[in-house]
This record gives sequence, structure tokens and C-alpha cells, in this order.
Amino acid sequence: MTTIPTLTLNDGHTIPQLGFGVFKVDPAETERIVSDALEAGYRHIDTAALYGNEEGVGRALAASGIPRDELFITTKLWNDRQAGEAPLAAIDESLGKLGLDHVDLYLVHWPAPANGNYVNAWEKMVQIRDAGKATSIGVSNHLPAHLEEIITATGVTPAVDQIELHPAYQQRDVTGFAAEHGILIEAWGPLGQGKYPLFDEQPVASAAAAHGKTPAQVVLRWHLQQGFIVFPKSTSAARIRENLDVFDFELTADEQAAITALERGGRVSVHPDEVN
Ligand code: NAD
Repeated sequence: MTTIPTLTLNDGHTIPQLGFGVFKVDPAETERIVSDALEAGYRHIDTAALYGNEEGVGRALAASGIPRDELFITTKLWNDRQAGEAPLAAIDESLGKLGLDHVDLYLVHWPAPANGNYVNAWEKMVQIRDAGKATSIGVSNHLPAHLEEIITATGVTPAVDQIELHPAYQQRDVTGFAAEHGILIEAWGPLGQGKYPLFDEQPVASAAAAHGKTPAQVVLRWHLQQGFIVFPKSTSAARIRENLDVFDFELTADEQAAITALERGGRVSVHPDEVN
């Protein structure tokens, strides 16, 4: 079975660098698809309260018989639960659905700045971690100004920031801030969500031909070789296996640079200020 490398978070815990994401996986199919991923060798699953499929993830985990300490499970706090004490109830609901007594990583899903609650949400995340309900805590879709504010307010630096990141949209302002503060980057939409013809780009296609790998595998390598954490999503068993089969080759520095040069400010999703 594939050995997936781990990275060490700023709190000393480790995270498998490659996992499986379940955004837009139909709740009715989640148990089967996550079971396929666990069978293929994934041990890191990225879900969220918003996705509505935590129960299916939980059923797959329970059915797998895989020891809890070999699994790395992330879920996320949705925007309408950031105020007051709501995050404390939200984590209990997520844990109930997942059938777990703790998650490995709990994230504030978006800063949702129009609501003005993201500092409170982060304070509650610290409480959730201290209560043992999340081993590590982090954020998602936070820009440097949001990160500065929550770190200043609490003295606690998020372990990760999970942001949209793929060759056309690399968010160097966020990755630069994260590197300076010891925050690991989780790249969501690592394959551009299939929304632009990334796989046809010449540097991707030619590296794929040179290494006898697929364009998707080349793009995942591009992320991994920069130290980003990825959890590509697919509902096809063949692609689920393909996306894990990325540890037997290495892109050259030139190949890596040519893919990096595909940056074009091309966000495929919405700006964090617009999600509230
Ligand atoms: P992705 O970049 O992983 O793209 C998924 C799409 O790529 C799928 O629809 C599939 O058709 C295609 N694909 C997957 N493997 C392929 C392969 N080997 N060859 C060809 N096509 C392939 O996008 P995503 O699912 O949005 O992102 C991954 C994960 O990131 C999500 O499942 C979720 O866990 C997380 N995410 C988080 C946020 C957030 O706001 N925090 C937002 C979106 C996604």
C-alpha cells in the first residue's frame, strides 16, 4: 500500500500530506465513495458541516475497522455558527454525525467578514481544542488581514489555512504570510475543480508525457513538492486510486517552474469577502 508522507503542524501534531475531499459528494453515496478511498489507502478525509455528508463519512470510517489513530479527519464550522457559543454546539453536532469523540483538525470554514464573528469563532476554536474535541485547529479562506487579527486577538496561530490554490491562482500573499508564521497551506480545488483546461496546458501535458503519468498526477506533484497539503476529490474509483499514485516520480525544477508560470489570477470560486 502507498505510504503517504506526513507534515508536522505548528502544534507538533502530524498530518498526511495527501487526503480525500468530499465537497459535493452526494450524502447518499458518501459511505461507498469514502470506503473506496479508505480501501485505496487514503487515511485523511476532508469534510465540512456544510457538505451535509459527515454521517456518510462516519459510517465509512466505522465500517472500515481502521484504528482511529491511523485516521486523520477534518471538518469545518459553517458561517452561521460563528457567533456567541454556537461553535461549541456545532462541534458536538459534527462529532455526533461523524461518530467520533474528536476530529484531528477543525477549521473555521470562511471568515465571513460581513457578520463580524470570525475572531469570536477563533476564540471558541481554541476552547474546542483545549477540551480535546479537536486535536488541531485552523482556518480556511482567511486572507492575511484576517489571520493577523485572529492571531493578535488570541496569541494562537492557526495550524493551517485551507485556501483555493492551483496553478492559475496561487495566492502568494497568503502563502507568503503563512510561511512567515508557520501556517501550513491546504490547497482546495487543487485541480482547479475541473473549471478550466488546466490539463491541456503545455507544461502540464509535457511533464505528464515525460514521466508517464497523467496531467492530474503532475498537478498534484506540483502541489506536494511545494509543501502544500492536498485532498483531491473524485467519485470514480479509478481516479481515486490515480490521485494517490503520485509518490513514485518527481518533477524537475524546470517542470515545476513552468507550471508555476501558469499563474493568471484565475480564481475559480468566490472571494472570501463575498461569502457570509
Ligand atoms: P478539485 O480541484 O479536487 O477538483 C475536483 C474535480 O476534478 C472533480 O469534479 C473531478 O471531476 C476532477 N478530477 C479529480 N481527479 C481527477 C483526475 N485524476 N483526472 C481528471 N479529473 C479529475 O476540487 P474540489 O473538490 O473543489 O477540492 C478538493 C477538496 O477541497 C474538496 O473536496 C473539499 O474537501 C475541499 N474544498 C474546500 C473548500 C473550502 O472553502 N474550504 C472549497 C472547495 C473545496
